[in-house]
Amino acid sequence: MDLEKTLLRKVGEAIQRFHMIREGDRVAVGLSGGKDSVTLLEVLLRLARRSPVKFTVCAFTVEQGKFLQPIQPVGDWLRARGIDWTYHYDTPSIQLLEEQPGHGCDVCSRFRRRAVYDIGRELGANVIALGHTADDFCEAFLRNSLFTGQLSALPAVTYSRKKDFRLIRPLVYVTEDLTRRFAESLGAPVIPCGCSQKTGTVRRSLRDFFADLEKDYPHLKESMLSAMGNLRPQRLLDPRYFDPEAGDQQAQPGEHFPIVIES
Ligand code: SF4
Repeated sequence: MDLEKTLLRKVGEAIQRFHMIREGDRVAVGLSGGKDSVTLLEVLLRLARRSPVKFTVCAFTVEQGKFLQPIQPVGDWLRARGIDWTYHYDTPSIQLLEEQPGHGCDVCSRFRRRAVYDIGRELGANVIALGHTADDFCEAFLRNSLFTGQLSALPAVTYSRKKDFRLIRPLVYVTEDLTRRFAESLGAPVIPCGCSQKTGTVRRSLRDFFADLEKDYPHLKESMLSAMGNLRPQRLLDPRYFDPEAGDQQAQPGEHFPIVIES
């Protein structure tokens, strides 16, 4: 398999299907120090060089005190490649960590979101690209149905509350076996986050669950992603989408949930 070609195709498909990037956009990629975001950055840079839709790409990292090693090797690697990278040491997040070391993801994410929007403004960006992968979508889908009573995953595209940023997840169709191999092929330094090593969490249990099933069913995540794009409301229990007169017929794509596909 040609890894680069596969990644460009999958990311290009997501961008087009969900109208993620538009003419003149300035896209800021949130680099977390991991394999996923570095893959996202590199793929977007390559697409920006080839795409007829003109857009620019820059990168930033928010330091929240969670990295297990200094992040600077990532910055050195990026700058050696001529990539525009901004490092933001987020003092409120560091204070939070000192004062409430056991804080949860909700408060951590809230602090990061505020910092990300501040940096986005400084960088003149109107789009923030996040490195969530197909694995994250599948885990979120299971987590939401098992623990929150909702059939949902993550938004492929959404907006900040004041609508000043479009938030996009172009790796929605890219599984982490691909990002791992691509980041290795680039020779990119990967700086682990302390949270990724936590055990006993729901996330860890879901990851183990998938890893176990994938030994026998390697295309499990592709199938789940297809399912997320192929609803059969007549076989679900939401009266807003259930037509008692319709019988059990397959909904036509776009009938209930229009998808914008650029020509
Ligand atoms: S996993 Fe760690 S870094 Fe990520 S949101 Fe939760 S607390 Fe923050």
